[in-house]
Amino acid sequence: MDKTHTSNTWSLHSLIPENHPRKESLIIREKIVDGLLDGYVAPQGLIAHGRGECFDYLIGEKTQEFAIKAIKAGVASLLLAKNPVISVNGNMAALVPNEIVKLAELTNAKIEVNLFYRTIERERKIAEILKKAGAKEVLGVDEDASATIPELFSERRRVSPRGIYIADVVLLGLEDGDRTEALVKMGKKVIAIDLNPISRTSQKASITIVDNVIRAFPKMVEIAKELRNKSKEELEQIVKNYNNKEILAESLRFISNYLLQLSRDL
Ligand code: ATP
Ligand code: MG
Repeated sequence: MDKTHTSNTWSLHSLIPENHPRKESLIIREKIVDGLLDGYVAPQGLIAHGRGECFDYLIGEKTQEFAIKAIKAGVASLLLAKNPVISVNGNMAALVPNEIVKLAELTNAKIEVNLFYRTIERERKIAEILKKAGAKEVLGVDEDASATIPELFSERRRVSPRGIYIADVVLLGLEDGDRTEALVKMGKKVIAIDLNPISRTSQKASITIVDNVIRAFPKMVEIAKELRNKSKEELEQIVKNYNNKEILAESLRFISNYLLQLSRDL
């Protein structure tokens, strides 16, 4: 793609009016488009983003209580883990690079590039973005992605033998259902950030944060600062009291009630 040409044509930052009622949402879209033009967001990432926006409307574009509970259990799990890993794809690198690095520091997690549409060029660009944001080490780039997840085919199964392959807890966002299921089958605890509570990833994950990564990551950083001072027993209690089925049910009930309320307000 000819970047100079396309970025002039498609990058609309300067055209978003200050008082546009959906300015925030438009700016976020532009970040994803910039990531595509820079060659590290996959075209399919744009489609996924649109799907996410749709579900964000249904939860009022806010971090709701069911997400807060999942975030607390997720952060506690990362802090308790032996080998926690944050899995990063193009959309996440475009939206929350600084927060990924901060959360990894606070929870002692490794950062791994893990792409559904894997190319060396995209891997390297994402690693570069994360390093610019302060990451000391980024796994899953070039030959480092030499281990394979059983049951998956092609480039989709490649992971780092020092990262996701040996991880006991994996945090991921905008992940495909098949890959989430394969990681859970390997015995890993999977924390998923996914706006769609009925996606297969949301249904298969151990802890599902039904929220936008844009809001969930800064919130996880904030909660990690609080929880890292707690005792192991207190963290274990948070994890023990968490029930993902209940949280998913709570998110679906929220959406139903929210739509009902909107219909009454017409
Ligand atoms: P699945 O494979 O889990 O059945 P899918 O094929 O619809 O679901 P994928 O493309 O595999 O979805 O993964 C993308 C998921 O990420 C979607 O469920 C989408 O709603 C969600 N998503 C998109 N943008 C965001 C975002 N900014 N924050 C959180 N979730 C998002
Ligand atoms: Mg999918």
